[in-house]
Parts: sequence; C-alpha cells; structure tokens
Amino acid sequence: MHYIVLSRKYRPQSLDDVVGQDIIVNSLKNCLDNNKVPHAFLLNGIRGIGKTTIARIIAKCLACKEPIKPSVPCCKCQSCIAFDNNNHLDIMEIDAASRTGVDDIRDIIDACQYSPVFGKYKIFIIDEVHMLSKSAFNALLKTLEEPPSHVKFIFATTEINKIPETILSRCISLQLKPISKEVLCNYLMDIANKEGCKLNIESANIISEESEGSVRDALSILEQAIMLVDNSNEISQDNILHMMGNTKSQFIEELLEHVIYGKVNDAISILDNMTQQGGDSFNIFKQIQKTLYKYIIDTSRGYNTKYKLSHLLYLWQILLKQTENIKNSVFPEYILNATIVMMAYTSSIPKLEEILSNNEQQQKSSQEFLNEVLKQFPGSNMTEVY
Ligand SMILES: [Zn+2]
Repeated sequence: MHYIVLSRKYRPQSLDDVVGQDIIVNSLKNCLDNNKVPHAFLLNGIRGIGKTTIARIIAKCLACKEPIKPSVPCCKCQSCIAFDNNNHLDIMEIDAASRTGVDDIRDIIDACQYSPVFGKYKIFIIDEVHMLSKSAFNALLKTLEEPPSHVKFIFATTEINKIPETILSRCISLQLKPISKEVLCNYLMDIANKEGCKLNIESANIISEESEGSVRDALSILEQAIMLVDNSNEISQDNILHMMGNTKSQFIEELLEHVIYGKVNDAISILDNMTQQGGDSFNIFKQIQKTLYKYIIDTSRGYNTKYKLSHLLYLWQILLKQTENIKNSVFPEYILNATIVMMAYTSSIPKLEEILSNNEQQQKSSQEFLNEVLKQFPGSNMTEVY
C-alpha cells in the first residue's frame, strides 16, 4: 500500500468532520439544507485551515445524486464515486496560482455553457483566486454577474484584499478562523492515537503553538514526529523540539541580541547558518518579528529589562516597513539579509539620548577635575576665570 500523508489521510469527508470551523459549517449546512445556495462562495482565511476541503465538500454535496440530506452526500452514487476518484466531469478544480491568465478563465467560461453530465450543477473550484490577473478577473466578472442557473463557483483565497471589489460584491464571503489551540491539541492527540502513538498535552501544545492555527502545518509536524518514535510509541517532547528545529528559536534570540548590540557580522553569520540549514527566508523573518514583538510586550510590562523599549520599537518599525517587500520579493533572502544589516547598523549608531547623556557626563567630570585642582590651590580665584 502506498503511503498517504496525514493531511490527506484524515481529510474531512463531510461538513461534520471539519475541525474548528463550527460557525462556517453551520451556515453552510443551513444554505444547503434550505436550498439557498448562492451562485458564488468565497472562502477566505490563512493557509491550511480547510478552505479547499470545505470547497470540495460543498461541491460533493451539490453534485450528489441521492444525498442523505442536501448537506450530507450519500458517498455511494455515481457522482460521489467519481468525485472521490478525482474524475468528476462536472466539478473542476483550478489552481489560480498556476493558471492566472485570461485564456484560462475563457476555458472556464466556455465550459459553463454545457449542461452538467451527472446532476444539476457544473461546479468550478478556483483555489488561490487572488492570483488571477486583472484581465482574467474582468473576463470572469460577466459570468459572475449573470451565471447560467446550473453553474456554481467556489473560490478560496488567503489574500482577500487582492480581490477586486466588483468580484467580492458578487460572492457570499465566508471568513475561516485559525483553529483554536485547544481544538487543535485535541485533534492532534486523536490523530496520534489513530496512528498508534501517544502524544501528551504538552507536546500537542508545542505543535499547535508552532503551527499558528493551521491544521495542515500541525499535521505535517506531527507526521515527522511520528516517524521518529521508538518502540515505546511515545512522541517525546524532545523529538518534537529537535525536529521543529526549536534550536531555531534560540538562534533567533541570539540573532536579535547581535542585532540589538549592533554586531552586524555576528548577526549575518547566524542568519547564514539558518538559511544553509534550509530555513525559509520568509519564515525566519516572521519568527524575528514574533520574537521582537514578545520582547516589546515583555519590556513594556516590565518583565524584561535587558533591552530598551525605545530601541526595540525602533527596530520594529524597520521590520514593519520590510514586511510587504519580503512578501512580494522574488529574492526574499536578499530582503531578509538587508533588513538584518539595516537593523544591526542603526543599532550601532549612538542614539541622541546617549550622546546627550555622554555630554552631561563629560561636563560633570571636567567640573570634578577642576574642583580637585582648586583644592590644591586654596584661595585662588580660578573659579571666576573658569
Ligand atoms: Zn452521492
């Protein structure tokens, strides 16, 4: 039997199986069961929280020939079987990240004209829809304004702000939330159990913390941890930390320390080390941001007195300005390196308050020296001359 990754093996097959999206799931059930399905949905939210999975379940429900109820497909009919085998003629999945052009959209629009083969609808799932070009969106707009009654669109995106207002106003938009830590922990422990392993709550916590509410990321970490288990079948905390490269967070703290003390060379060599070990530039950037944010909060609450708040806030501004740049850059590693150099360099420049206080110190010590001299020449009038 060939190996199936956990995220596919445990991919929810029905709306009831979807983890941590109760509000969205309930409203979708209402839409389907009351036969009030809009002609276009837009599912929006961060990576790996079930947008494509939900899109596929909606499509399967709409296409099923003998559903148990409209929101529960039978999983036995010709349509359901074709869907499970990824060869359903009426359901098309398009990845807009690789098919961004107007011609790709024209193919879809042409396909809309034909009646469905199996059931009532032709369904188009367009993933990462924000990647479509402007002309592609324009071409799509006409069909979205007056779609044939047998056509349904289900869009998914991680970046709703990149979708034109004209498109948004013609869709029902559903915002998926990052999965809460508690729900994710329970889910991970359940999956580990199904895989014949033991995952304790502390370890589950570490994984859900690292995956920031993304089920897919969490399952991917769990999967690697399961590969490392010994005969006890216990997933140890050490293994998880080791595998996640949680020396990573130590590296980040060291890197930030060098940055804050203006040690450009030391900062860059840590960075080189991390990228050579396969660290992704954007991820490293995000981790630096996360750690710096923690320092700022801790310092402002008085829990951390190692660094000056004004200095941390200054570095935060630099990071913030670079966030969009690194996201959109073809060479994110250049932006990351340049940002670190910029932060470390500006840290090495003395701050105005330091210059002023140094001046004060100097004046103070000249006065002390003068006082010493005066003590040796009692009765002189040097103070007046000075
Ligand atoms: Zn069916």
